[in-house]
Amino acid sequence: MYSCSWAATLAGIATQRLRPAIRATGDITQALNQIEAASPRHLIGHTILRHDLPHLWAARPGLQAAPIDTLWLNPLAFPRNPYHHLVKHHHDGRLQAGHVNDPELDARLVFQVLRNQLLALSGHSADALTAWHYLTTRAALSEGFDAVFRHLRGRAAVAAEAEAAILSLLEGQACAQRIRQTMTRIHSPQIGWPMAYALAWIGVSGGDSVMPPWVRAQFKEASAIVRFLRDSDCGAPDCAWCREKNDPAKALSRWFGYSAFRPEPVDPEGRPLQERIVAEPMGGDSLLGILPTGTGKSVCYQIPALTKYDKTGALSVVISPLVALMADQVQGMARAGISSAVTINGMLSLPERQDALDRVRLGEASMLLISPEQLPIDLGAGGTGQP
Ligand SMILES: [Zn+2]
Repeated sequence: MYSCSWAATLAGIATQRLRPAIRATGDITQALNQIEAASPRHLIGHTILRHDLPHLWAARPGLQAAPIDTLWLNPLAFPRNPYHHLVKHHHDGRLQAGHVNDPELDARLVFQVLRNQLLALSGHSADALTAWHYLTTRAALSEGFDAVFRHLRGRAAVAAEAEAAILSLLEGQACAQRIRQTMTRIHSPQIGWPMAYALAWIGVSGGDSVMPPWVRAQFKEASAIVRFLRDSDCGAPDCAWCREKNDPAKALSRWFGYSAFRPEPVDPEGRPLQERIVAEPMGGDSLLGILPTGTGKSVCYQIPALTKYDKTGALSVVISPLVALMADQVQGMARAGISSAVTINGMLSLPERQDALDRVRLGEASMLLISPEQLPIDLGAGGTGQP
C-alpha cells in the first residue's frame, strides 16, 4: 500500500474521531482486499492523484472511493508563508516525513495534514471558499475535493455564486478589463485549479506570498492568470488599476516618496531620462539605458523591480560586480522602508548566504543583487518559488 490512507467521513477526520487504520503487512493482495471490503468513502494521500492512484486503480479498478490529495489543497489552505510545517514546498511538495522514503509514516501524517488544512480553510473568507469549491470541482476526479468544500460550506457549489465570489475577490486587485476577460474562461475544467491558485496568491500578494514550484510546474496557467490579471496593461485611460500600477511617477512617489523624477538629463522629446527608462520595463519592454554617474541610475531598475514584485511576485536579478555599491543600494532602499532586496556576494558568511537564498525561495525577495562570480547559484530543484 502506498502513501495512501482511507477514511469514512471528513467530519471524522476533522473531529479527530477518525484515526488512520494502518496495518503493516507484507501481503499486498490481503491489504487491497481489506481496503475494498471496507468500501471507504475517500482515499486520502499526499500526491496520490498523480502517483499512487493510477497504480491502485490498475490493481483494483472497482475501488470507488473519492480521492482527496492534500498536496493540491495545501496552497489554498496555506497561501502565506510559512506553509504547513510537514510539507516541503521548496522542491516537489512532498511530505516532510524524514530523509528516507517512508510511505507508512506518510500515510499516518496525511491525516494530520488534512485535519490542519480543514482548520485553516475554515478560516478563509466565505467568498474564497465559494470560489475554490466551484473551481476545484470542474474536472474529473474532483468528488473528494467536493466533499472537502461541502464539509466546510455545508452546501453544493453553484456557478453563479462562484462568479460573484470571484468578482468580489478580484475587486480592486486587478485590471477590470482583464477580470471581465478572465471570467469568460472560469467554467472550463482546465482553468479551475489554476484559477483557484491564482486567487489564493492574489489574496495574499504584496510580500511573503509564494506560489509553490510544483504549482507553477503542474499548473502553468496559474502564474499566467496572475500576470494577465495584474500585469498586462489594458491601455484604457479610465482603468484605475492599469493607470495606477503602470505610472512611473506614481510608483516613484509610492516607493521612494519623491514627487518627480530628476529634470535632467532628458531624452530628445524633453522627457526626463529616469522616467523614460522606468516606463519601458514597467510596460513590459526591454531596453538598454545609459546614464552618467550621479544621475540616479538605481531607481531606474528598482522601481520596475518593485512594481513587478508587487503585481506578480516576480524576482528581478541585478548583476553587479561592485559589492560596496550593492550594500549602499540595499541600505538606501532600507531607509525608504523597502526590505525586499537581497544580496549575495563573496562577503557573506555561510548562514547569511543561506538566509538570503531562503528569502528568495520563500518569495520574500523583490530583487536579488548578486555579484557575477556567485553565478550560477543553486536555488533548489524548484527554482525561486515565485509565479
Ligand atoms: Zn486595465
